[in-house]
Amino acid sequence: MTDENSKAAAPALPRPDSIAKPLLAWYGREGRTLPWRDIDDPYRILVSEIMLQQTRVTTVLRYYPAFLERFPTLADLAAADQEDVLAAWSGLGFYRRARNLHACARQVVDRYDGEVPRDPEELGSLPGIGRYTVGAILSSAHNARLPILDGNVIRVLTRLFRIPGDPGTAAVSRRLWQLATDVLPQNRPGDFNQALMDLGATVCKPIAPLCEQCPLAGLCAVRAAGNAEDFPNAGRRTKVTFVQRVALFLEKQDGSFLLVRRPADGLLAGMWELPGRELGDGEAPERLASILCGEFGLTIRPDLVVTSEHRFSHRHWTTRVYRARVEDECSGPADASHWSEGLRWTCAGDLEKLAVPEASRKTLRPCLRASRGSLPG
Ligand code: SF4
Repeated sequence: MTDENSKAAAPALPRPDSIAKPLLAWYGREGRTLPWRDIDDPYRILVSEIMLQQTRVTTVLRYYPAFLERFPTLADLAAADQEDVLAAWSGLGFYRRARNLHACARQVVDRYDGEVPRDPEELGSLPGIGRYTVGAILSSAHNARLPILDGNVIRVLTRLFRIPGDPGTAAVSRRLWQLATDVLPQNRPGDFNQALMDLGATVCKPIAPLCEQCPLAGLCAVRAAGNAEDFPNAGRRTKVTFVQRVALFLEKQDGSFLLVRRPADGLLAGMWELPGRELGDGEAPERLASILCGEFGLTIRPDLVVTSEHRFSHRHWTTRVYRARVEDECSGPADASHWSEGLRWTCAGDLEKLAVPEASRKTLRPCLRASRGSLPG
């Protein structure tokens, strides 16, 4: 056998226009039924697409109906207070999206008479709307022939066409956007985009893809080579910063407790949490808890109620929560400069009206269980 003959031939790549037919037939049989599909209301599609950024479908399904019940039209959302929008978003995380969605609704009212623009450039000029969201909204609402490229679509395309390299780099990303355009059919581009996402979510999974059930198995370059899980090349992992924190659950006789507002910029901007602080290097949590209590005129040792863990995309918080009783006359700390954004005595029943992120809810639930309140959700 010659060297030439012993080399395994590289599997053939599919033709971009060969994907649509089998994929759309599969979508007709197996596509997921989702409340933002088969509707032509750009506002409802816009809300779903913003919620779906960095959040799983199963989570969005829990929040989407309630959000639309609270803000049924784009005009309702534009007219709302930001505090109400953040409260309705509470639990979904990545709150910048809620602020952007709210700002976007206001700009659509001011600049476009309340109609979500159909022009991709105009739509892409609105807050929080990038190229993916433009394609997703306009292809779903108006069947525009515009590509989408999210994590699911990247996985399917890099495998089907055996695209090497990190999709986070500009060169690979450009190539993938071009492919996402080339595979789009003239008919039903909106359904095609949804089908690609469904295939990535339910069949072409990151680990152990279900190639036997895949309608594109006969076309797929990595299926033939048997190395699907090598694609996409993820590049470097995100570096996570671990932060240790201490927080106080300060409770009055009537069951009310103190929340403070976070700064207007940065992580969880403007949202409510228990008063607390990050631990310094080598600082003991009990000591910081006592210092914090001292700021409220308390000399007692507070009880540790819970150690809560919360992971953001780049940060991991470990928060030790201490509980203490304060006098009913207490209005706040002697020096409130640490919490100049706002202090508020509240009760469990009022939490749904406030922008309280999941990171704060995790610290509150055990405290409320330990006292007599309870926290919905
Ligand atoms: Fe993904 Fe396998 Fe289908 Fe290829 S054959 S697209 S790897 S599920």
